[in-house]
Amino acid sequence: MARKRAKLQCPTCKKAVKKVDADFPFCSERCRSVDLGKWASGAYVVSSPVTDGDEEAVESILRHREEND
Ligand SMILES: [Zn+2]
Repeated sequence: MARKRAKLQCPTCKKAVKKVDADFPFCSERCRSVDLGKWASGAYVVSSPVTDGDEEAVESILRHREEND
């Protein structure tokens, strides 16, 4: 029976990343910045408006996205 192993990829450049990487789920700080930049420019649709506590909101969204993988 084949064991299902989730593929971990940098959301920005799709390069393989390890959970132990400091910048996980990104492969590098640069890719993390690029992804956060997408959030800021509205490339992603957020269901609820982000007001105060932006960082906290983004973190919860990222957590949620991880759970859906
Ligand atoms: Zn990357």
